[in-house]
Amino acid sequence: MTDIQIQLDRVADDAHLLDVRDLFIEFHTRDGIAKVINGVSYHLDAGEALAVLGESGSGKSVTAQAIMGILDIPPGKIVSGQICYNGRDLLSLPEKERRQVRGKEIAMVFQDALSALNPVFPVGWQISETLRHREGVARADALRRAVELMELVRIPAAKQRLRDYPHEFSGGMRQRVMIAMSLALSPKILIADEPTTALDVTVQAQVMDLLAELRRELHMAMILITHDLGVVADVADRIAVMYAGRIVEHADVHDLYAVQGHPYTKGLIDSIPRLDHKGQELATIQGLPPSLMDIPRGCPFHPRCPYRKDPICSTQVPTDQRLASGTRTSRCHFAKEVLDGTAA
Ligand code: SF4
Repeated sequence: MTDIQIQLDRVADDAHLLDVRDLFIEFHTRDGIAKVINGVSYHLDAGEALAVLGESGSGKSVTAQAIMGILDIPPGKIVSGQICYNGRDLLSLPEKERRQVRGKEIAMVFQDALSALNPVFPVGWQISETLRHREGVARADALRRAVELMELVRIPAAKQRLRDYPHEFSGGMRQRVMIAMSLALSPKILIADEPTTALDVTVQAQVMDLLAELRRELHMAMILITHDLGVVADVADRIAVMYAGRIVEHADVHDLYAVQGHPYTKGLIDSIPRLDHKGQELATIQGLPPSLMDIPRGCPFHPRCPYRKDPICSTQVPTDQRLASGTRTSRCHFAKEVLDGTAA
């Protein structure tokens, strides 16, 4: 083995399974250019679960679509950055190789299972078709595997339900079918984009429990995209909080719940209803997220921030501040003060 090869192997060993680096994405519309992703970086190692949290329009789903290679281009445009999977930049791969990664290496579960499934085909057929089409598996074997996958996602009487159509399943069971389909090619990473938003609360908890169990059973890495901090704690190892197309705080999940290093995260945590605060008015974050066509100067959160100090907050864009433990960061000029509770 040559020295160069040894060095390259070392680089690959050090590499994260997935590494999103300084990603910038715009949408060109009739009304102007929306800067939807503004320098997003995050990584994922084998078997890890990362939650990407943010309000609608914060850019969390757009990043996932770019990872999957399903972003609408145009109007979308990846301006710069890299998305490295196993050391290879997916953005520079030809579409044919991209397709190999999609589903087989990285798969995605969408929010709305009803519109993601084809209403005119039985679910067993839809699951087995992925195997037949992508892996060339024979029909009988693919159907047998479809039953196994339906059992894996805890669909009762899986064999009998193979010929049922999507509308014959409840919302929660349909989402399980979608998860089964996404697992058909044994991906290394599962991206779950708001997988429980369309479901009622009890079913939401069951689907989140299932995802947590599958991740452990299959040693699969997972990116959970959500606007709901309440569903993250039992599933994720780390959280990246997004605001206006940026990651404003990144921390270990338990550290982030205990104490926050960014005023936006603090606002999100304070607005979760708590039993021990019964009778008290629920805290809210004032104002609305900014238009991505007109992101405020300085810190994008400054018009809503109770800790803002002018002129610095309204004129200077904050950079990542590294906080106490390991990889914890916050994009706030006063991150340390917010974290230790001395910010006024
Ligand atoms: Fe608030 Fe200023 Fe921090 Fe932005 S930089 S979050 S405005 S304190």
